[in-house]
Amino acid sequence: MIQSLLIANRGEIACRVIRTARRMGIRTVAVYSDADAKALHVRSADEAVHIGPSPAAESYLRGDRIIEAALASGAEAIHPGYGFLSENAAFAQAVIDAGLFWVGPRPASIEAMGLKDAAKKLMAAVGVPVTPGYMGENQDPDVLEAEAGKIGYPVLIKAVAGGGGKGMRLVERAADFADALASCQREAASSFGNDHVLIEKYIQSPRHIEVQVFGDSHGNVVHLFERDCSLQRRHQKVIEEAPAPGMDAATREAICAAAVRAARAVDYQGAGTIEFIADGSKGLSADRIWFMEMNTRLQVEHPVTEEITGVDLVEWQLRVASGEPLPKRQGELSINGWAMEARLYAEDPAKGFLPSIGMLELFELGEGQGGRIDTGVFEGGAVTPFYDPMIAKLIARGDTRGEARERLSAMLGDSAVWPVRTNAAFLIEALGHPDFVAGKVDTGLIGRDGEALSADPEPSAEMLADAAQALVPPTLVQGFRLNAPSRDVATFLLDGEPVEIALAGQGSCEGETSVLVAESGKVWQLQRWRVDGAGHHGAHDGEILSPMPGKVIAVEVAEGQAVTKGQKLLTLEAMKMEHTLTAPFDGTVAQLTVAAGDHVQVEALLARIEPSEE
Ligand code: ADP
Repeated sequence: MIQSLLIANRGEIACRVIRTARRMGIRTVAVYSDADAKALHVRSADEAVHIGPSPAAESYLRGDRIIEAALASGAEAIHPGYGFLSENAAFAQAVIDAGLFWVGPRPASIEAMGLKDAAKKLMAAVGVPVTPGYMGENQDPDVLEAEAGKIGYPVLIKAVAGGGGKGMRLVERAADFADALASCQREAASSFGNDHVLIEKYIQSPRHIEVQVFGDSHGNVVHLFERDCSLQRRHQKVIEEAPAPGMDAATREAICAAAVRAARAVDYQGAGTIEFIADGSKGLSADRIWFMEMNTRLQVEHPVTEEITGVDLVEWQLRVASGEPLPKRQGELSINGWAMEARLYAEDPAKGFLPSIGMLELFELGEGQGGRIDTGVFEGGAVTPFYDPMIAKLIARGDTRGEARERLSAMLGDSAVWPVRTNAAFLIEALGHPDFVAGKVDTGLIGRDGEALSADPEPSAEMLADAAQALVPPTLVQGFRLNAPSRDVATFLLDGEPVEIALAGQGSCEGETSVLVAESGKVWQLQRWRVDGAGHHGAHDGEILSPMPGKVIAVEVAEGQAVTKGQKLLTLEAMKMEHTLTAPFDGTVAQLTVAAGDHVQVEALLARIEPSEE
């Protein structure tokens, strides 16, 4: 068994690999870029080596520096994680040439599966069903168009070197073919340096089903059943589960056997995934499931397989890379329960899923019941703009699909991240979508219903009332009638926007001026603004305090002036917004402490109104 391991990756997957290596008594070496100097994977490893500036091309993609780091730190093996250099056959070869163990398949296997057309031809040759289509050498546009006609529209044009959902075009009718082809080729040339394409029948109601396979250097290959990754946004997986809903034993047997054949065809060693596309319009059946591609590495969604099989796939990877045989035979593997994973991204669904970067001032993830959290960040750390915005994976297990789904939803609901935005609320909505609940998901679900799923949730009135209570000093609500339906309303700032909140009773503030409130996977900041007590007034009711640090931009009244309730007193500029402070009741300006142009601190006394005699 190897004694020391360098992890050529970052984020949650680096932390995930370190966790298992540590349990196995293997010394771990992390690598990091400038932006990751304080990252969790650096803190988690026994040692860490700086490999370059923040952009991945200058650090995590620099194979030469990574191999140097391994040699300098005395690491015996390199685990590539996923993404970055994990499917780079030349890097795998360089690692081996440097005398290190490569935790992955042989470079020739990576190469054989590297291009979609070559992989499909190879699979067809060993009897694995492939999506009907054209995967020929001839790239003449007229030939390609004629082939598309033979396949029958709609068709999908795919860059043979494509990946990550890039380099694909759906063409509905012949008239659109030429334009779509040209644009796909342009994207393929610029993104992958290879403009070759293949054409596939576009599968209706497509479901993404993949099979986890594992091989060793002794000729053993097993599968660890299937995962369903049909819930996708723009061809990118959002929620994954294992097993696949609606999968019967015969169909499972057929596709898992096909996956093992596929792995054997490339003499596969280590963890790999065979991706299939299924026509889900009439349920799952072996004659409507086709090979799509093979990923020659560990997948992001591998935890759901671990949760239902009880196997630590990273441990298996390290054993196989060390030359050991697979720890289990096919007959010793079985499915136990159901598991579901959600990918938590630092992004804002309400703003078109724009990445959200910054400090993680609050970072709490719901642990749920036996829930699993794989993350690469921590509270007090930061999300930088350089890498993938996935900050955590939340994984729930249950005896049934319903139980796993509910537990995952609860974990997301108990999560609170701030001020960085996340897609937690969107994930909860997706988990609760009637079609998802019924297990009727195709890859187009989010595309069809995305708008409703990504709408910003509103905080509940109960939660706001509770939170507001904590911002109001007891003295400010002396006049509130307890035990009576209170109509006393106060204005607060919710994420900078004024909101009216009906207070339920006595205030309990001990000096706080702002609180974070979390609900359904979302976090808001609630700040004190002012209190308009109706009826009776407390001793401090007339004090006009600055709701936040800002600048006085206008003063509308003078000391001694009589004012009426609601009359403008002064205007403040704060958080790029103008806020007008008004008189809480009829009275006189007894005190005025600021002038236009003054900068004021939060809670500073700006003016005091003395109520007129009632
Ligand atoms: P990439 O390598 O870019 O991830 P894939 O070939 O794996 O590309 O396809 C990504 C996704 O595109 C699949 O998960 C599926 O949602 C969709 N897709 C791929 N091929 C087809 C097809 N023939 N018909 C319908 N959808 C497809």
